[in-house]
Amino acid sequence: MPAWTDLIRDVPDFPKPGILFKDITPVLADAGAFADAVDAMAAPWRAASLAAVVGVEARGFILGAALARELGVGFVPVRKPGKLPAHTLSLDYGLEYGRDRLEIHADAMPAGARVLVVDDVLATGGTLKAAVQLVEQQGGVVAGTAVLVELGFLNARAGWRHAAPLHASAVY
Ligand code: AMP
Repeated sequence: MPAWTDLIRDVPDFPKPGILFKDITPVLADAGAFADAVDAMAAPWRAASLAAVVGVEARGFILGAALARELGVGFVPVRKPGKLPAHTLSLDYGLEYGRDRLEIHADAMPAGARVLVVDDVLATGGTLKAAVQLVEQQGGVVAGTAVLVELGFLNARAGWRHAAPLHASAVY
């Protein structure tokens, strides 16, 4: 594993008992590790002719914005309900317990724009899948998806049906 992964901190029982939380804040706080992590995420997409990076609130904003800058493209936020000010499209999706909702601006991207959808951690995959569906509803084309960390033991990849590649920079 690359050196920046040493700075990912495991926090047991957060936000609930039984969850081992992968805390990336020490990676973000270290200039070299942050740069290396963003480079690792950017590497597969440098020749991909993207129009934008789409990041999922909230940690997907931090990585997604840095990645957009690195790849020389724009950034589009996918947010929790009620946060985006203009006309939005929204999608309800199932979580392990309960439901949640994500929103995107209806005019976030021109139809046919090729985008990379980004989040920090792939756990069950429900959040990333919902963000992909939302982008497609809005008219964007998902060229790929990227996460910094994949929790491989949760097997999200086995249920990942999208044709576009799913890239993880570190897998646990
Ligand atoms: P998912 O189950 O893939 O839909 O994950 C839901 C969201 O919660 C993602 O945006 C992750 O950032 C976050 N998340 C889920 N599990 C973890 C974990 N063990 N450590 C850190 N973040 C997590």
